[in-house]
Amino acid sequence: MTRVLEVDPASPDPQALSAAAKVLREGGLVAFPTETVYGLGADATSPEAVRRIYEAKGRPPDNPLIVHVASPDAVPGRLTSVGRRLAERFWPGPLSLVIARGPGIAPEVSCGLDTVAVRMPDHPVALGLIVHAGVPVAAPSANRSGRTSPTTAQHVLEDLEGRLELVLDAGPTRVGLESTVLDLTSDPPAVLRPGGVTLEQLREVVPQATLASEPTGAPRSPGTRYRHYAPRARLRLVEATGAEAAQLIRRLAEAERRAGSRVGALVTSEAARADPGVDLLEELGPAADLAVVACRLYAGLRALDARGADVIFAEAGFAPDGLGRAICDRLRRAGGKCL
Ligand code: AMP
Ligand code: MG
Repeated sequence: MTRVLEVDPASPDPQALSAAAKVLREGGLVAFPTETVYGLGADATSPEAVRRIYEAKGRPPDNPLIVHVASPDAVPGRLTSVGRRLAERFWPGPLSLVIARGPGIAPEVSCGLDTVAVRMPDHPVALGLIVHAGVPVAAPSANRSGRTSPTTAQHVLEDLEGRLELVLDAGPTRVGLESTVLDLTSDPPAVLRPGGVTLEQLREVVPQATLASEPTGAPRSPGTRYRHYAPRARLRLVEATGAEAAQLIRRLAEAERRAGSRVGALVTSEAARADPGVDLLEELGPAADLAVVACRLYAGLRALDARGADVIFAEAGFAPDGLGRAICDRLRRAGGKCL
């Protein structure tokens, strides 16, 4: 049985946080909001509790977890001076740092690696929960492995109802995309996954920071080789923007409809205004506001799934810098074939 507790996102009821913390300390699983997406949390010091995360998600056992802490002093490892400067600038916030692993964390968290990914989330509910629990909290996104990350408590229940004890429901998350993962154990530091903090922002603190190349052989970030973030519908990426994207989608949608498919589109407001001629439309917001686009991306994919789309055409002509890089990365990893 999964219980749901509604909490105020800005000032959560301490009684709710303390009830959730008790579940964590007893080895249970609690889904909670962060500024990025909802996380599926367990006591990071308990091997049994951490194993339950893998079971509940159906997560491959070689895909390590991010440990969430309530202050830079609580990281289960050694922060170098670069790490401390990054934490000062970007924490609390959507940046996970891969550092040398310290003692006290269940080995299952990092799948036998001698490193651990850590971050301090920017959400009163997440921070309150970690403080009440009194332990670091291991938490991947609260979805079945391979599926779209949840940005609402409803999404969590769609995927995991009955597989966890408690969901703290504080409404939709603000960023909507997962954290940036920066590996500080490589020289130069490398972005393993683009996310809420952009490469351009990181370079203001670490000018030499780079993008990790696509994994070949034994990858540094094991998770990046799996298919991720996928809707149930077939996903097709349209490498164009605005009216041009709408025109392309209209042509492609016609052929799909003739073949009997229900056609969905996930497009910016500009493309929506130019009418892409589909059965189901979800808007991402204005192309000029990528923060809004990022925030609506997963909810849009899930909504089109729920409305019965067989195929989804997603506008994907965003410039691959800043947040656009993270948006394009997720659309590609969601299995989207480029058109
Ligand atoms: P998520 O399932 O969304 O929480 O994703 C966690 C991401 O962090 C995955 O891409 C993992 O591969 C990556 N990650 C976690 N721990 C490590 C680590 N120790 N070294 C490299 N990447 C990591
Ligand atoms: Mg995930």
